[in-house]
Amino acid sequence: MMKKAMRISTLFSFSLLLPILVFGAIPSPKQVLGFEPGEDFKLASWDEILKYFDVLQSSSENVKVIELGKSTLGRKFIMALISSKENIENIDQIRKIQKKLHDPRTTSPEEAKELVKKGKAIIAFTCSIHSTEIASSLFSMRLAYWLASSNSPEVKEILENIVLILVPSLNPDGIDMVVDWYRKYLNTPYEASQMPWLYHYYAGHDNNRDWFMVALKETEIMTKVYYHEWFPLLIWDIHQMGQNGPRLFLPPYYDPINPNIDPLLWRELNLLCSEAVLELTKAGKKGVATNAIFDGWYNSANRSAPLRHNAIGILSEAASANLASPVFLRPQNLSSRGRGIYDLNLTQSSYLEPWEGGWWRIGDIIEYEEIVAKTFLKRIAREKERYMLNYYEFARRQIEKGKNEPPYAYLIPLEQRDIPTTLKLIDVIQKGGGEVWRAKKSFKAEGVNFPEGTFIIPLSQPYRAFIKDLLEVKVYPERRVGGALEYPYDEATWTLPLQMGVKVFESNQPINVEMEILPHGFKIKGKVTGKPSSYLTLSGRSNNEIILLMRSIKNNFKAYYIKENQPPYKKGTIFIENRDPKTLTKWVEELGISASWAEKNPKDLIPVKGKPGLYKPFIPNMDEGWTRLVFENFEIPYESLNNSKIRAGDFKNLTSIILPPMNAKSIIEGRSSQDVPPEYSGGIGMEGVSNLKEFVRNGGTLITMGSSSEFPIEYFGIKVTNVLKEDREKPPEKREFFAPGSILLTDSTGSIITFGLPDEIPIFYNEEPVFDSKEGNAVLKFPDFNPILSGILRGESLIKGKSPLLEVPYGKGKIFMFGFDVIHRAQAHGTFRLLFNALIY
Ligand SMILES: [Zn+2]
Repeated sequence: MMKKAMRISTLFSFSLLLPILVFGAIPSPKQVLGFEPGEDFKLASWDEILKYFDVLQSSSENVKVIELGKSTLGRKFIMALISSKENIENIDQIRKIQKKLHDPRTTSPEEAKELVKKGKAIIAFTCSIHSTEIASSLFSMRLAYWLASSNSPEVKEILENIVLILVPSLNPDGIDMVVDWYRKYLNTPYEASQMPWLYHYYAGHDNNRDWFMVALKETEIMTKVYYHEWFPLLIWDIHQMGQNGPRLFLPPYYDPINPNIDPLLWRELNLLCSEAVLELTKAGKKGVATNAIFDGWYNSANRSAPLRHNAIGILSEAASANLASPVFLRPQNLSSRGRGIYDLNLTQSSYLEPWEGGWWRIGDIIEYEEIVAKTFLKRIAREKERYMLNYYEFARRQIEKGKNEPPYAYLIPLEQRDIPTTLKLIDVIQKGGGEVWRAKKSFKAEGVNFPEGTFIIPLSQPYRAFIKDLLEVKVYPERRVGGALEYPYDEATWTLPLQMGVKVFESNQPINVEMEILPHGFKIKGKVTGKPSSYLTLSGRSNNEIILLMRSIKNNFKAYYIKENQPPYKKGTIFIENRDPKTLTKWVEELGISASWAEKNPKDLIPVKGKPGLYKPFIPNMDEGWTRLVFENFEIPYESLNNSKIRAGDFKNLTSIILPPMNAKSIIEGRSSQDVPPEYSGGIGMEGVSNLKEFVRNGGTLITMGSSSEFPIEYFGIKVTNVLKEDREKPPEKREFFAPGSILLTDSTGSIITFGLPDEIPIFYNEEPVFDSKEGNAVLKFPDFNPILSGILRGESLIKGKSPLLEVPYGKGKIFMFGFDVIHRAQAHGTFRLLFNALIY
């Protein structure tokens, strides 16, 4: 009793001090956290943020917290719905209306006009997907409090017309990592230093590169919210960039612009953002950049995927402080990276009012973000019907295009090298809200026969742009600035059929065949052929075979391969001891692969190699994280090797060691104790180098990815050169070579690690080393003609006939040098098998 009375009196005295509290007993963030979000040196942990939203939910009828699932590391993943009491009570009806608007095939324009009168605009604001860009998770609490506590007419209008989905963080695990790190090192020389690990357990910063592949838990949860359950007409993803650039970026986006997105949608987005910039200017907030830096080409960010789903996808990027520690910047400290802004001290069309420098604090970021938030909310509340009708209109225009212009459909026949991977591609389309159908009869398209059961993706559907943008071949526009080719913000292409090794046909004729919709989670049962014998054999055609192999080894079934052809077996064929035909058959069936019982016993069986070690430096490495994710998905056991394990040569039970992409100097020297606490400083050192050499000399396999190929070139004395080295060292305007995330064709030379793969293999390539070698064997070679399949490639003569994947013998062991993105953000299923095979043979 005593306690309760005290709490009330505390609240009362607060409300006397702060006029904002006069509206009642809705606790402010400060009352719950003990500090005002935006105060210097103060961050809120995920539990504290959850607690605030919980308190808000129990004290306000305008806030409802929904737990959507668990994050990668098991934290509660939530969104808060904020709207009027009536709307929250009526939420099912509101969702139904929005769902009807998203699909004009089931809703006529007349019906849509009626629906928008009754409906409410569902929109989403998402915070801190990048955990060091942490101001917006604090901003989310202030915004929620303002909406829940204010009785002003503007807030009333917002709550009446809008249902706001507010996600305080798209990566709760990262919030805790960053907050713990910051609190631990505050007031030490390492205050706000870079953490020695990724702030998303698998993807780090790349967690915002997963919005079509949906390989991470958080993106999977939100993709379902966006495109299957809530259909927000706007998604604002709130970010921060470096300290020295503009104070805030808002769209229009920079060139190039992706032509799959409707110009009407771009116009709507630009109009709304321009109003926010106007309000910032009115409020005296300087240093706002538009039409710069962040392009409108890329697909897989949380600003970009919505644009392919008829939603207004907005990115804002505020300049960072040092987490919550303020920074002081003089005008001469400010610098732009080009990309539409050339001098941060000059007025220009993309930067009308330069910021003059001074202190920059986490509170400044929140102030800018609040002005933007309020503009968006007020404008959409005032014109709710127009925004809702336009959302309908964007979808209607996509459907019309799909009906009236090629391509009309994508066709995926069942005759594929790797069926489970084909179904994985279909799953990606369905998770993103695309509809996939199956032909009930055989049919012809552009003169080609397609059998019954062929998958058909007609483009006359609301999410046409999403589907087309994933499946088509791209030509990235060449852009030059000052003579140098300008890089895309992220990548030039992502064409999934090429990355995944799946045959997909684009039909430039409408498809006329009876078809049925394909349910989600469609599977095809695997099959074992032949009569049970001593061994089960695997053909190398499917990635899922690796799961079967790993399960077999784990259950003590012996597994072997052959090094030379033994008709009918090709070199590389895998033989699994038949200890239990029932279990093996069950695995084959559930993994959807085809396998057969050996017809005759092979000779010279070699045991499949064991566990890989994966170097995990204290310089966070996203490829290392993605590799872990792929290994776990394919049930490949591995051991993470830190610097001290490598320095100690502690490689017991390991048969291969993988170095993720990083340069040789960083591998050896690591980080300096100037910028990270001593326990995380240093690299593998020269003793690590000798241990790795000895490991390979004694029969181990070293696998390098991308830039880590420099390491064996410099330290193992192998006669391999990177043919692009010289060109890369030239000033940008003199460089010939350009391939910023493109898909290129390579020829397989028939090495054992290409077992089961086709003769021509598309690879995802982002200017990694390309090899010329006096020793060793090229596993893949670039052809004599231009190998571009999707994206852009210039200076192709430099790589003609050269190798992006080399096998070099070293002592009793060997080195595989991967000069391309073999995992590529868990997208490149078409090349995964090359890495898997490098581990087992
Ligand atoms: Zn970011």
